Amino acid sequence: MAASRTILVAGAGIGGLTLALALADRGFRAVVLEQSPQLEATGAGLQISPNCARVLIGLGAAERLKSVAVAPDSVRVRNAGGRDLVRIPIGRSPSAYGAPYWVVHRGDLQAVLLALAKERPDISLVLGARVDEYAVHPNGVTVACAGPGGSADFSGLALVGADGLWSRVRARMIGDAPPRPAGRTAWRTLLPAHLVDPEFRAATVNLWLGRGAHLVHYPVRAGALINVVAIAADADTVTGWSAPGNAEEVLRHYPEPDWAAPARALLKRPERWLRWTLYDRPPLRHWSRGPVTLLGDAVHPMLPFMAQGAAMAIEDAAVLADALARQPTDPAQAFRDYEHQRRERTTDVQRAARRNDRVYHLGGPAALGRDLVLRLALGGDLVLAQHDWIYDWRPPGPAPVSADPAMPAGSA
Ligand SMILES: Cc1cc2nc3c(=O)[nH]c(=O)nc-3n(C[C@H](O)[C@H](O)[C@H](O)COP(=O)(O)OP(=O)(O)OC[C@H]3O[C@@H](n4cnc5c(N)ncnc54)[C@H](O)[C@@H]3O)c2cc1C
Repeated sequence: MAASRTILVAGAGIGGLTLALALADRGFRAVVLEQSPQLEATGAGLQISPNCARVLIGLGAAERLKSVAVAPDSVRVRNAGGRDLVRIPIGRSPSAYGAPYWVVHRGDLQAVLLALAKERPDISLVLGARVDEYAVHPNGVTVACAGPGGSADFSGLALVGADGLWSRVRARMIGDAPPRPAGRTAWRTLLPAHLVDPEFRAATVNLWLGRGAHLVHYPVRAGALINVVAIAADADTVTGWSAPGNAEEVLRHYPEPDWAAPARALLKRPERWLRWTLYDRPPLRHWSRGPVTLLGDAVHPMLPFMAQGAAMAIEDAAVLADALARQPTDPAQAFRDYEHQRRERTTDVQRAARRNDRVYHLGGPAALGRDLVLRLALGGDLVLAQHDWIYDWRPPGPAPVSADPAMPAGSA
């Protein structure tokens, strides 16, 4: 493989690893530079909706994902008092959208992508390599990395910053303001399934909506663990994914009698919580400069109210690899095409997530109105149909391997 087919990827998160696989499929060599010295199973649950499940299946991840994912039958939406509002039938995804809806542990998805990458001789993963600087020159891009082993330079035809919310490549390329706190904190934990109420072990995504707070829980790791995420209005900020939290501060946002006993009982269970401040950024007008571009959270971080952060990074990867394959000698033009194909969609999803932020946390008469609309006017089928524009998305280029909806039963 000629050096001119080498693409440097900053970050071995979900977006970076998916991109490396998509590039290798298109005949490129990918060098993935990751700051962490080890890729551990960090994070908690991620929702893999059909739009991105389709990409992952096309990259050969189906069998491995099936062994760790859960395919929920529905999203069950309740208000804080425990009243059922709607059941969104996402279990219908394989027939409705041609690809399944999965929920997984982020670490499990990352491990699946990593295992696939290790099988590809055209993918090199360099751990402990923090991208600090880069220089563009007539032959491409040279990146300067620092890490425990010292500093090292890497050269390639182009560079993709898939380095997440605090992207160094974005800071170097655009130099805009850092992400701003969204005034929301997410407390996350994973519970062994046998510790929760049997009802909560079912293959269902549970969503509870309350004044200033909501709660999401669903099984992951083939049903062995329950992912619990409590998101509430909160002005405190922490950086990163692993700041410790405690039950007392969580429960303060889920008071009696507003919150039904089963929801509070679940929140009382965990001994350990992790706190994570939600950050937001306004959409960017342009995110490529010559042979350097951005992908995933580095360019369009999403509030998690549409569960589309990882999905958009995965979609980006498919579109970017396709654009490069169409213009292999002109990465600058390929990146302009990629950006053009992605800007409107990712901006729309960012906006939809912000809208849900307002709707989820309503209180008083506005919440009553929301509940009535969900229960009586819309219903599950219509709510699902409102997501068609997200879930029915197809990657460009040659048709991927057809979706295999044959998941083992919900695995709860
Ligand atoms: C540790 C962690 C845990 C997460 N947990 C959850 C979760 O529980 N639920 C959820 O919905 N979302 C979670 N996310 C976010 C979610 O994974 C992302 O929103 C989504 O997958 C977008 O992926 P991305 O590849 O753009 O960014 P990320 O998944 O954030 O990946 C970015 C990668 O780039 C690396 N990196 C950063 N800076 C540099 C640098 N200068 N040089 C080299 N490498 C660099 C990071 O170490 C990371 O591996 C988590 C992200 C991380 C990093």
